[in-house]
Amino acid sequence: MDMPEQVIFVMDKIRTSGGQAWLVGGAVRDMLLGRPVQDYDIATNLSPDCIENLFSDCSPYTAGKRFGTIGVLISGTTIEITTLRSEAGYTDSRHPDRVYFISDIEADLARRDFTINAIAFDPLTRDGIVDPFMGRLDLSAGIIRTVGNPRERFNEDPLRILRAIRLAAQLGFDIDGNTRQAIEMLHPLLGKVAFERIRDELSKLLLSPHLAKGIGQLAATGVINMIFPHPGRAELSQRHAVMIAGTELVLTLRLAALCFYLYPEQSKTEIIDMLKSLRFSNAEVEHAAGLIRGFKDLLYNDPEPYTIRKLLSVLGQRDVSCLIGWYEKAAKAETSPIMLDKCNKLHLLYDEILQSKDPVSLKELAITGHDIIDAGIGKHRPEQVGEALRTAHDWVLRDPRLNSKELLLAELKKIYNG
Ligand code: ATP
Ligand code: MG
Repeated sequence: MDMPEQVIFVMDKIRTSGGQAWLVGGAVRDMLLGRPVQDYDIATNLSPDCIENLFSDCSPYTAGKRFGTIGVLISGTTIEITTLRSEAGYTDSRHPDRVYFISDIEADLARRDFTINAIAFDPLTRDGIVDPFMGRLDLSAGIIRTVGNPRERFNEDPLRILRAIRLAAQLGFDIDGNTRQAIEMLHPLLGKVAFERIRDELSKLLLSPHLAKGIGQLAATGVINMIFPHPGRAELSQRHAVMIAGTELVLTLRLAALCFYLYPEQSKTEIIDMLKSLRFSNAEVEHAAGLIRGFKDLLYNDPEPYTIRKLLSVLGQRDVSCLIGWYEKAAKAETSPIMLDKCNKLHLLYDEILQSKDPVSLKELAITGHDIIDAGIGKHRPEQVGEALRTAHDWVLRDPRLNSKELLLAELKKIYNG
């Protein structure tokens, strides 16, 4: 297995100082699968203090030291080194109450969530794989199975319930029968988990290659009810799952699509409140809510140039093209001739508008706020300047030929100075 030189450097250094080091977790899993590795986690029998000293030249990062983790920075790459540990109790379902540092790699693997995540690799010994739970067998069969009794493991940390579905959707794996039964039975425990942790897993799930299957599992197991406990939810069908999964690979877009099908009646402010309570950032919340609003505009308006120009002015090209893509997936999943016909029109309109370089943004408007002031509008009521600008903008979105300074000012004067 090929490893970056930074990882080899860290493992060598630990070994030279008399310690042992293994590559563990997602990196081993992904290397065995031949998938790109996101981050490299190393387990060691040396204490956190030892590691901090050993790597004092590599800007050691100690925020996780209490749990045994020291981050080190080596030629631009962060590598986490964690002392072998077992853990006890999860009263807040967030961090283990206590961690015990130990010297046995197998005991460290035993606290991990799934067999495929519980493989250790030591490249410097001959048969360097440690795989006490037969994770490699599950890797080749494509199965997500908890290490040990699934009910006990989900009780310990209910986030694992969502992690099982996320990993299955990322890897295209099936969830083992017992593990799945435990998910169905214990999904209410997710209510105890901090929303930040749920958000991180949901975000990874939404960007997974097998998202439709993942959403199907969220709905079938009841897990969806714990992620979205907000009232007024609609049933998610497999068709909805296909539509959401068919959108482009953009987190806020997929979040928007999921929220829209779960809560088709919700207002923009209700959506914003809901996403904020799921701890998405303000920027993500605003973006997702804006996309839902835009999608509703496409859905409920006739395919006219004004609709598209208006959307372009609010959202920009990238988002509008994503929304038309979403509409297309919806039209195909519904196999609705009316929607498919409208979809063709939307594509044509969009291309036409971009080609004709119609003015859509406020910047492209032939007049500015200064022109409006110079024309004597808003002398007594300054708020009329902005209002007049928006009015002119709307005229031009309806008919781009009106985008001339004389014409717009003449029409505005009729309204405001008449
Ligand atoms: P990704 O590729 O998405 O990062 P990952 O498997 O590396 O997936 P991480 O959250 O980075 O996931 O966790 C690293 C490793 O720590 C996992 O592979 C697993 O062995 C262990 N782990 C993570 N979360 C838990 C948990 N809630 N319970 C038990 N073990 C966990
Ligand atoms: Mg990881």
